[in-house]
Amino acid sequence: MSLLADDLQAGTPWHALPVDECLDRLRSARGGLTRVEAGRRLAEHGPNELRGARRASPWALLLGQFRNVLVVILLIAAALSVALGHGVEAIAIAVIVLFAALLGFAQEYRAERGMEALREMAAPTATVVRDGEELEVPARDVVPGDVILLYAGDRIPADARLIEAVNLRAEEAPLTGESTPVEKGDEPTPDGRASTSIGDRAGMVHAGTAVTYGRGRAVVAATGMDTEFGKVARMLQRVEPGPTPLQENLARLGRALARAAFGVVAVIVALGLLRGQPLVEMLVFGIALAVAVVPEALPAVVTISLAIGVQRMLRRNALIRRLPAVETLGSTSVIGSDKTGTLTRDEMTARRIAVAGRVIDVSGSGYEPVGAFSHRGREVAAPGALGRLLRAATLASDAHVSRREGTDRWVVKGDPTEGALVVAAAKAGLHKADLDERYPRVGEVPFTSETRRMITLHETPGGLLACAKGAPESLLGSCRLVATDDGEEPLGPEGRAAILEEARRMAAEALRVLAVADRRGATLEDAESDMTFLGLVGMIDPPRPEARPAIERCREAGIKVVMITGDHPLTAAAVARELGILRGGRVITGAELEAMGDEELARRVEGIEVYARVSPADKLRVVKALQARGHVVAMTGDGVNDAPALKRAEIGVAMGVTGTDVTKEAAAMTLTDDNFASIVAAVEEGRGVFNNVKKYLMYLLSSNFGEIGLMAGAALLGLPLPLSAVMLLYVNLASDGLPALALAVDPPEPDLMRHPPRDPRTGLFTRPVVVLMAVGAAWSAFVNLGVFAWAIRAGRPLAGGMTLTFATLVLTEFFKAFNFRSDRRSVLAQPFANGWLDLAIAWELALLAFVIEAPFLRGPFGTAPLGAGDWLLAVAAASSVTPVLEVAKWLERRGWFGRLD
Ligand code: ADP
Ligand code: MG
Repeated sequence: MSLLADDLQAGTPWHALPVDECLDRLRSARGGLTRVEAGRRLAEHGPNELRGARRASPWALLLGQFRNVLVVILLIAAALSVALGHGVEAIAIAVIVLFAALLGFAQEYRAERGMEALREMAAPTATVVRDGEELEVPARDVVPGDVILLYAGDRIPADARLIEAVNLRAEEAPLTGESTPVEKGDEPTPDGRASTSIGDRAGMVHAGTAVTYGRGRAVVAATGMDTEFGKVARMLQRVEPGPTPLQENLARLGRALARAAFGVVAVIVALGLLRGQPLVEMLVFGIALAVAVVPEALPAVVTISLAIGVQRMLRRNALIRRLPAVETLGSTSVIGSDKTGTLTRDEMTARRIAVAGRVIDVSGSGYEPVGAFSHRGREVAAPGALGRLLRAATLASDAHVSRREGTDRWVVKGDPTEGALVVAAAKAGLHKADLDERYPRVGEVPFTSETRRMITLHETPGGLLACAKGAPESLLGSCRLVATDDGEEPLGPEGRAAILEEARRMAAEALRVLAVADRRGATLEDAESDMTFLGLVGMIDPPRPEARPAIERCREAGIKVVMITGDHPLTAAAVARELGILRGGRVITGAELEAMGDEELARRVEGIEVYARVSPADKLRVVKALQARGHVVAMTGDGVNDAPALKRAEIGVAMGVTGTDVTKEAAAMTLTDDNFASIVAAVEEGRGVFNNVKKYLMYLLSSNFGEIGLMAGAALLGLPLPLSAVMLLYVNLASDGLPALALAVDPPEPDLMRHPPRDPRTGLFTRPVVVLMAVGAAWSAFVNLGVFAWAIRAGRPLAGGMTLTFATLVLTEFFKAFNFRSDRRSVLAQPFANGWLDLAIAWELALLAFVIEAPFLRGPFGTAPLGAGDWLLAVAAASSVTPVLEVAKWLERRGWFGRLD
């Protein structure tokens, strides 16, 4: 039974067909497909994805290396050498070019594959029904005929005809440009013309759009390029992510340096020509010098550092979705965090129930439905008002609690808050499955972070029953009666005040409080009014054990942590105090926030530590106020309405487990474990990445300037050229290659989280960094020039003097590599802590000895063998850079060159 795409497209459009006809035509059923059939259809129709997301092949990457201008220039130099009859020299240049290209290729390939793996991890998923089971599958595996489930916050995976819709609304801006959510239903659109515009097809949901409210069930009609979104995508070019600010800055820096370098090279070449050196030889040399001084490895190494940062963050449960986040994370100065699930474990257990004037304790732990109810130490039975409350609470919940197969562990599927209610009822023998069967649900008003309540309607033998649960303040307004053990009585102002007082008492003990109400004989229209208040449920949600130390780390690192929650201010304050967030600052509620203007908020925002009973729209205001104070803000969120705040924050943080697709797409980072501590880990890694970029930038630039200084100095002093073209290229390869890469993976400095966040405006070139770089370059030029001049004066043959200088210069770079592992700490603190650098240098040392001492390389390199004394001299001269840099660092630590970040 083949389902041809053409078949599916022809005939009456889906939105105009009744549901059953759609199911027939798709050869599906309300219960979905089987796994086998879904697999078959996947093979037939192909994956549900847009084509055109092609990745670069390894060959393209390799070829790309040779498109590099510098490589081309070098190849010209090689050709010139051949023309000059320096065949061996040409081969040496060619080999070096090849090595440089391979190195670049390896770097880019690794970074590319890493990013690819990340894209896969971040791929969207969909909930489908197969073999009667709800399954979470990658969105690309969705096939026509699949029955999919949709909830608020879901990204819709394919075009689908609704089978069932409960208050379903979808935002279809990507297709229609209309950002107001539209109502969806399962009725066919009466106007059955194919031309009914997408926005009017109420019975359809479309790929690329999102559910903003309610829930639904739909049968997939089209996937991949056959969807309306696919048709649009056909017309649009895929937008490639641009470079990050760091990459952009460094590219600009590289270009500026290149221009300057070519100027200097021109001068040196001109001086050489004036002194009668042959033109072509000077040209080859000039090219080599230009290549040596341009930090061409810079962009590649930055990309690598960022990619490595991304991987390290992933290992610590932070999935980066936008590359710039890696660098921005390091300058985060405020983290705004949700409470429930991020700072706490989101494992709710009902502990206390206030009902009919009594406070009842509930025993038991976790989601295991075993426990007892007691009042003042004496067990109480569930009938009466308590039973009525538990029944309403369960009926108004969507969560299911079950024992995990083969274990003793009880788990909740759905909202843990509801799980706690369902479990509490089960402890009284009221099981959700039974209740759902006895009182089938016929309508509902879903929970939102704005209304903070949820209402359901059920059929009972005696008419409709409305059940409601939610924040006490939002529910109490709808209640006119209060339940007692033997009936109901009117709810007066004192009654209300007493209930709110009881709620406050529970909240002050860090309990999350929900009110429960019901109404008999309700209708769909008036379910929200004239309800009977049944009681309060207080539940505990223990803080995550890692959260407290993570918050302490933030404090040391100069990062402010604020809690933002929809919960009661007293609950929030109690938890915040326990975690060390609330330390004498203010607790602000959404209502107080509303009363404040933006300016006043910006003025007072520094003193606020907890935001309670706030709605997602308030979050956006908080982000803006913090930004107005110059803060770099990381903000968490999970619901659909959090997306604007996450987009606005420098680092939007989505929840990987409980978060919605929409927030994940708006976020720069997703926590795979929803854990606050993972944000702090990511910040630490971000700081590390930035520091490492700083380290090899200091190293590379200081090396290149040192080389220029040496060559220019020799030219000015009237000395011969201290290095041959091939030597220069080799120095460049040796320093820009492995050691620079090794610095990119330097382990984080131990005090990384003990100084305040860097000011994002300062960038890489802080004064201390510039000073160290300049001192390193100047000293290197000075020492090497000294060694060369001494050798020439002492009457050594030119080749010997050049070789000695060559060895000294390469060794100087190696010493610098160790020194530049920190821009402030002494190299002696932990000299060999970076194993990669140790390895790189050991390898380079062996290579250097080989290049100088191997007889067959003498020709192309223009070297002469060095004696033991020469080597000793080279090491001694090169090592002198260490004490010089140590003094510079010491002065720096004493504040001579301005503030350390
Ligand atoms: P947060 O996630 O920041 O703790 P929420 O927005 O989830 O806050 O919840 C805010 C308030 O809404 C809670 O204090 C509770 O009273 C109420 N509430 C939470 N979850 C539900 C739910 N599933 N049904 C009804 N009310 C709820
Ligand atoms: Mg919540």
